Amino acid sequence: MKLVVRDIEEQTRRVLYEEPTASLNARLSSSTVRDYELPTNASVRLDYYRVGVEIFVQGHIEGKAIGYCARCLEGYVFDVVNDFSLVLLPQEQLPPNMELTQDDLDIVYYQGDEIDLSPIVGEHILLALPTRPLCSESCRGLCPYCGVNKNFEQCSCETNRSDPRWAALREIKLDR
Ligand SMILES: [Zn+2]
Ligand SMILES: [Zn+2]
Repeated sequence: MKLVVRDIEEQTRRVLYEEPTASLNARLSSSTVRDYELPTNASVRLDYYRVGVEIFVQGHIEGKAIGYCARCLEGYVFDVVNDFSLVLLPQEQLPPNMELTQDDLDIVYYQGDEIDLSPIVGEHILLALPTRPLCSESCRGLCPYCGVNKNFEQCSCETNRSDPRWAALREIKLDR
């Protein structure tokens, strides 16, 4: 999504569009563990206006994500929602001894006649994903012995096998 700088006025304008998620999916699948997938485009609403050289943007993102639970490995769908505010400044306004960092998402310096907001929107989609995917806080995970999903099935592994961490202690008892 690109904003043309000279078209931005003092009066707030609103734009609604679909942000493609293909490049974000490529980033998500490049990690060794697949945690998340974005199956559809994200719906984005941008309100923007100008005060002098400063451009103010308020964004609202809504989309769907599939998480792959860290405990039971099942896929589950959830809503991705994020709001953000930005101040866009021309590059010339950058103080000479200040470095541009990706973390400074609330102030963005731009060059040229157009501002590409897609990378910023993309970052805010990724920021809306929880650090660890869990299908539910109370997910019981997989049985470490037989692999059944303990949310749906019960097995008797845990009662049949004693915890190996106690084995050493049991031997001590037997020796005496
Ligand atoms: Zn789970
Ligand atoms: Zn089991």
